Parts: sequence; C-alpha cells; structure tokens
Amino acid sequence: MKNPKEELTYLMIKPDGVRKGLIGEIIRRLEQRDLKIVALEMFQPTLEQIDEHYPKDETWIARLGQKTFKTCEKYNVSPKDEFGTDNELEMGKLVRGWLVNYMVSAPLVKMIVQGTHAVDMVRKIVGPTLPNLAEMGTIRGDFSVDSPLIANAEHRAVMNLAHASETPEEAAHEIEHWFGKDAVHAYKRFGVDE
Ligand code: UDP
Ligand code: MG
Repeated sequence: MKNPKEELTYLMIKPDGVRKGLIGEIIRRLEQRDLKIVALEMFQPTLEQIDEHYPKDETWIARLGQKTFKTCEKYNVSPKDEFGTDNELEMGKLVRGWLVNYMVSAPLVKMIVQGTHAVDMVRKIVGPTLPNLAEMGTIRGDFSVDSPLIANAEHRAVMNLAHASETPEEAAHEIEHWFGKDAVHAYKRFGVDE
C-alpha cells in the first residue's frame, strides 16, 4: 500500500472564489488541516480544457440534473414549470454548458494537495456541491448562498467557489490533465512529516 500520508487530490479555485478574494482563505483552510500544497498556479483556462475537465458520460451529466431536482423537491418547485424539463439528462446537459462558460469567465487557481485522506478531507473542507445545502464551516456553506433555483433561472452554473476531486481516480485524471506528470514538489511540513 502507498503511504496514506501521500494521497494526492486536485483543487481548483473557481472564478467566483478568485473574484471574491478567497484564494488565501481557501489555501489557509487546507493548510490548517495539515494538508500540503505541493503544486500551485494561477492561469486562464480555455473552453476546450474545461470541456475536457468535466466528464462527458451520460451518468455524470444526469447527476448534474438530479442535483437541481433535489433542490426543486426541497423547495417545492416544479422543474417542468420553472426550467421546461423534468428529465435529468436534459437538465444536466443545460447545466454542463453553463458550467463550461462560467469556468472560463476569470482566471482560476489550480493546485495539487497532499495528505492523509486528501481526497475526502478536501471534499469535507469544500463542502457539498450546492451552497444552499452546504453546512456552515465548509467553504461553500460559509461563503456562498447560491442555489440551482436562482442559477438555472439566470441560465448560469451554480457558483460554489472551488472544485475538488471526488475520488482518487478522478484526482489522478485531473492532476494529469492540468499538471501533466511530475508536477509534485516534495517537502516536509513541520509537525506533520517530522
Ligand atoms: N452545478 C450546477 N447546477 C447543478 C449542479 C451542479 O451549476 O444543479 C455545477 C456546480 O458548479 C458544480 C459543477 O456543476 O460544482 C460540477 O458538478 P458536480 O456534481 O461534479 O459537483 P462538485 O463535484 O463540484 O461538488
Ligand atoms: Mg464533481
């Protein structure tokens, strides 16, 4: 087994995170939990790079639609009346298009994060997808109030400040996509590695 302290994940500060001045706050919250930033860069992505970043399979796209419908259910809104469809895949396709446009609307900050259970830890710190459902204490819960009900009505993606890989497989794929091979800088954190 690989050293569990060396698990890697990928985090990207989204346009709203950059524009709200949250770069430092987001990095602070990661480092506070003994996670190590081992690669870091600000950059302007192309539409094509973002399109390749997000999965294209129908299961993933339908899941985007499902997330909208979960909010509709909670707030007793009819997706058909509000957004013209109650089909998850159709809703997901719309959301994916808005998402790609949103992600190129400002520079992003990309990083590789290393540490014990890095994938799950970073997801926990970032919080669940929809800020309207994210708990206080998470980045998404503390700094955003966005909801698919508002976002869809405005034909845009839900702005939730940061992207974080959901599984080690997704992390490996995203690290390779955004950084290529051998981008990790090795160093020892005081009190963590020694
Ligand atoms: N998204 C959206 N509307 C939705 C669900 C998702 O605009 O109803 C956007 C949101 O910005 C999210 C991204 O699509 O971060 C990718 O969705 P995913 O399900 O992978 O959520 P994440 O992994 O970012 O929590
Ligand atoms: Mg995701």
